[in-house]
Amino acid sequence: MNPDAAREAHETIVGSTNLYTNIIGAAGQYDAKVDSSANCSLAAHILNAVTVGVNAFVYEAVGPDEDLYEDYGEDVQVLAAALALHDTDKFVREAYGVDVEGNTSKTFDWYFDPEPDGDSEPREGDPFGIEEFLGEGYRDDLQYLVQRTETRENSTETRGLDTSFSGLERYCRIGDSVASVALRDGTDGVYDQLCTLIGEEHVHKLEFTQLEQPILNDTLLGTAKEVIAGETGGDTYGVVIGSTPDSIVYLGEPIDRSILEQAVRERVPKQIDAEFQFDCKLNWNSFGYDILGEVGVPIDKKEQTIADAFRELLSRGSAGVEGFEHIPEAFDQYFAVLAKAVYIDGQSEYPDPGVQTAYDRIKEQQGPQKVKLHFVAYLVENYEDHKEFLDELAETVRPELHEDLEPETDAIGAVTDRFFDGRIAPALGSKDQMCFLCGAETDTKYQKGLSGIYRTQEYSRRVPPHAKYKSICEVCNLEYALLSSVCEEHDVSTNNSLEVAYFYFDEFLADIRLRSGRIGNIVQGDGDELDDPQVTSNLIQPQYFLQPLYVLDENHRMAVVRQVMQAAQESGMKVVIGRPFTRFDSADAVFADEEATRPQELLGLDEAERFGPLPSFIEGDRTDSHLRRALQLFKIMSMVGQDANMSNPYLQLDRDTFHSIANFAVVHHDHAVRLDDLREYFETYHETELMEMKTVAERGIDLFGKQFDSKYKKTKIFREALDAFLSGKNQQMDDDRLIDYVESQVYAAADREDYAGHATPDQAQAFVEAIRTYLVENELYELKKLSDWENALVNSYYYAYEQILYSDK
Ligand SMILES: [Zn+2]
Repeated sequence: MNPDAAREAHETIVGSTNLYTNIIGAAGQYDAKVDSSANCSLAAHILNAVTVGVNAFVYEAVGPDEDLYEDYGEDVQVLAAALALHDTDKFVREAYGVDVEGNTSKTFDWYFDPEPDGDSEPREGDPFGIEEFLGEGYRDDLQYLVQRTETRENSTETRGLDTSFSGLERYCRIGDSVASVALRDGTDGVYDQLCTLIGEEHVHKLEFTQLEQPILNDTLLGTAKEVIAGETGGDTYGVVIGSTPDSIVYLGEPIDRSILEQAVRERVPKQIDAEFQFDCKLNWNSFGYDILGEVGVPIDKKEQTIADAFRELLSRGSAGVEGFEHIPEAFDQYFAVLAKAVYIDGQSEYPDPGVQTAYDRIKEQQGPQKVKLHFVAYLVENYEDHKEFLDELAETVRPELHEDLEPETDAIGAVTDRFFDGRIAPALGSKDQMCFLCGAETDTKYQKGLSGIYRTQEYSRRVPPHAKYKSICEVCNLEYALLSSVCEEHDVSTNNSLEVAYFYFDEFLADIRLRSGRIGNIVQGDGDELDDPQVTSNLIQPQYFLQPLYVLDENHRMAVVRQVMQAAQESGMKVVIGRPFTRFDSADAVFADEEATRPQELLGLDEAERFGPLPSFIEGDRTDSHLRRALQLFKIMSMVGQDANMSNPYLQLDRDTFHSIANFAVVHHDHAVRLDDLREYFETYHETELMEMKTVAERGIDLFGKQFDSKYKKTKIFREALDAFLSGKNQQMDDDRLIDYVESQVYAAADREDYAGHATPDQAQAFVEAIRTYLVENELYELKKLSDWENALVNSYYYAYEQILYSDK
């Protein structure tokens, strides 16, 4: 085993090329499986397979004295490319709709040189950028490997092919079979599969207690993986294969649990310090340590944070202090000391007579509030003269300052205990000593002022909402600090109602060993960020990616949900929307919303089972619950809303049926009948209803002639018919009498109008029969519903009518 090889391998594949980004871009919007109970994006499955295969190869093949680049560089690249292509048949089926069977030459031709789209659009070959990644001349080798990746694959085409990479077959099989089993059975399946393929003595599975604090959970899990991989400076125990939120599987030597726990406990503060930003609160007349006094990060770092806050305030200028152009760097060591002495303690007596005189004069001029910042500014200006005073002050004040900055409780120790000790939930405290977020025992009472989490009573899960003071345990307090930092990064104010979108490739995530800060805003950015490989490796690194969301009202929430779905489709990730401070639970569905609103549920926008529809040639239970449909519906609502200048376009439609959408569009959009997106939506998802209504419209034209001028004339005969249905139903006619009655009314109306041309009773009969069919099929054939939906039906008739006029032109 070579401790650096895994990192170098991933540097070769993820860090310095676009391979992963390309795969996400090309295959992220497709499903890996037909069965939606164990599904992720095709991209996520491919990336898991590549990563597992490469990790297994690195573990077995690269010796301690060997160099990955020199000795195995080409092998790693060929292996990664072959695994990237191992589901090429699935990819071309999804992307081009061609029914190919297996990874044959025909399939590979479709991948590398796809046929043009219809009669015009050329398609670009090699969408994963395999030849850019690997170079040309490897197609036969790759196909040879791909045909041997799955045991049931037909490999006759490449039998007897002379390739120098046949040794990689084993790792192709490991990569694909482990990634497949992970989808279904998580780490247990991965562990069993690896025991079979590599040998029990090499495979280790570690299990943890998943925390209710999702950010801390991810941090602890990531740190444990680093310890195992020897990246924290200690021994190397192995190559991590992958993880779920509460388990890790790796290849190598067993690690003693207490050694791992100890190493994690020591490492986490540095990890937190490196990845998160904590701020104090400072303005011209007040200063507070805020979260700085509560988190266990190195003390000099905290002092620097305070210094930075003063620098920022002084260079801006405030309360009559003119903005500083230059502040000597050497002054940084005094800012935290002055914050404590001048702001926290309100010290006004100083042993140095010169300083005392200056202080008194400033206070005289500026008053008792402004004196604070003016005094600090005076000392910065006259730094050289008062250096000695400042050093003495620092010596006296610093011990107390450090006492203030030292957290009272060991949150990291407590959370590490919870993560490792196997208890599902912490011991519950008595009612007034219970953390209002997680229920753990605590006697600390933290107040967070305006923060939405504390203000919103609904967040309280375990104490009555009227409890005045909310107690929060040290662990939730730390999680809160981390969440605030994440919110700050994403420009999301914690003063609003907060929710979190958890993006994840799948419950099981194969491990890439490129670790860096968690940056990148995948929802509120413009979407280009995913093209940045740096961000992509950051998406792949954490077990799940937290995107805080603020929600203003129901319509805004729908807009946010739309963006979240869009980001999921673009990144090939699944999403769960939930609250902060709740354990992250993965879902079977691609999109799941634990906080879904009623309007969302009515439109089926609260869940999406899949990324897209099943390819048309696949038999089986069809589901229309997928991202592509949801996003098309969102688009229609938004287009119509924009045309009508609506302030809440996502709340105007309450049903996903043909006649309600057609009504919504016709009423609010001037050119509804010409909208391609709308027509495509109907043709794809409401084909039967659209066809039925078109039949109604055709019969209406037969009877009443083609009308071109007004909407009134176009729909007149249909309205007559509905009115007759309503009136007959009102008189409780039986069905036979009702139909006779409506036919006679409709015939009379058509006969009355000269412009309608010559009408016959047969035409009236056919028209009424078509209407009746539509009403019965759509469960509208009763008085109450018919009267509720009359206008909507007229507008959908109009829509269908226009489609017929338009297609005849
Ligand atoms: Zn708690």
